[in-house]
Amino acid sequence: MKKVVLYVRVSSREQKEEGYSIPAQKRLLWEFAKKNDFIIAEEFEDDETAKSAGRTGFGKMIEYIQKHKDVNTVLVEKTDRLYRNFKDYVTIDELGVTVFLVKENEVIGKDASSHQKLIHGIKVLMAKNYVDNLSEEVKKGNREKAEEGIFPCSMPPLGYKMGELKGRAGPVVDELNRGLVVSMFELYATGLYSLKGLIEKLYNEGMVIPANFPQSSKLKVITKSTVQRILSNHLYYGNFYWKGMVYNGLHTPLITKELWDRVQRVMNGNSTTNNAQVKQGAKQFLFRGIIRCGECGRTVSPDKKIKPSGKEYVYYRCTKYRSECSQKPIEETLLSEQLEKYLDRLNVPVEVADYIEQGLKESLEMKRATVDVERAGLEQKKQLFVDRLDALYEEKLDKKIGEDFYKRKFEEYSKQVDDLDVRLAKYKKADIEYYKFASTILELSKVAKDYYDLANTEERQVLLKFLLSNSTLKDGIWLIEYKKPFNFIFERSLNSDWRTGRDSNPQLLP
Ligand SMILES: [Zn+2]
Repeated sequence: MKKVVLYVRVSSREQKEEGYSIPAQKRLLWEFAKKNDFIIAEEFEDDETAKSAGRTGFGKMIEYIQKHKDVNTVLVEKTDRLYRNFKDYVTIDELGVTVFLVKENEVIGKDASSHQKLIHGIKVLMAKNYVDNLSEEVKKGNREKAEEGIFPCSMPPLGYKMGELKGRAGPVVDELNRGLVVSMFELYATGLYSLKGLIEKLYNEGMVIPANFPQSSKLKVITKSTVQRILSNHLYYGNFYWKGMVYNGLHTPLITKELWDRVQRVMNGNSTTNNAQVKQGAKQFLFRGIIRCGECGRTVSPDKKIKPSGKEYVYYRCTKYRSECSQKPIEETLLSEQLEKYLDRLNVPVEVADYIEQGLKESLEMKRATVDVERAGLEQKKQLFVDRLDALYEEKLDKKIGEDFYKRKFEEYSKQVDDLDVRLAKYKKADIEYYKFASTILELSKVAKDYYDLANTEERQVLLKFLLSNSTLKDGIWLIEYKKPFNFIFERSLNSDWRTGRDSNPQLLP
């Protein structure tokens, strides 16, 4: 017989509503277990009206299931009993348990019907995306770093290497290449050289190849685009550009701001020709930058060849940089054929698209009932402190309180407001991402192939970068992998049993 756990919850909001009490929920679940011959291994409950710290029952249940491998089923009255927030939803999904939503007559997990799995999958995806966006600790760390004046990077540009800045990892001058970088700026600032001319000059002067040109780079020579990136990098005069903003850096500059400005003027004067050339070259190749070699892991890059017949064709080959690799080049047309077959399969049937839409709708309901409530709570709390600041100021004006007391309290309250602002900003960002993510899923799950067929090369490149990840090429076979959630939709649209699952809702209650 199946061993199950029960989970019941009551929140203050519904406390007064009838039939939602803990005993009532338990009664319903016990009856259900009895009818289905389930053994109740353990019961867990959260009474949020009791104002205990945290939500111990849910946490205990998760621990219990992790410990007891023979228990992988949860009985719960309905969805909102189990999930108080998006994070719980993801947690339960990662546990891999089957959940019976008794009152809703639904099941989540292995025993679910295919369309329920699909809807649930979309909801998990949306929840996970939201949770991830909300907890961007690494990025926050980087922002702090940037504000302190340390360029957050793991591989600084030519002329710098990783070292220590004020006790933290950051760019320090790389004496080996300092001279090369300074020469580049000085020569280019004269206005006598195009990017190409500058490279030639550097070669002729014996300044290229730099001794430790970025280790992970595949470049053995300096290209025009590399030079262009170096010459427009703020880092060299002491600032740096990060996430759309220029910060003041603590690192040692290699050149003056004045020289940098002069170089920008020269570059902008020449930019019409130079930029266009660089960009056009890159844009000609459809699959540039999205394929890796399946044998040695190096980049598979495009090139043009002219056949003996005089016909031009594009082929892709492994760069084989510092590797022994036996892979042969492959023509672009052969890759295109393979890609179109994959995209065909991403064209999901109308019914599946409907389920995706339903999943998104249910996710939105869940969002309103969970994270939107959390956010409203934070806003309320913030208003509380803003009101206190107002009152405090008034008391100060009325000379009811002393300067010291005012200062202390002012700092305390404004820190609270600032902290809440940071948290609210995260919600705002996660919200925006949530809607963007949803509409992208919806659009692309319906029309990826049609879009691709009609798009020009540049649009196709954007689409492919958005859809694909970790694609590898080995022995002429392109192993295409979709990024989340497209991998998910792709698997589900391949799976034919969603059709049969459609009419077989499990009848849980007699
Ligand atoms: Zn290779």
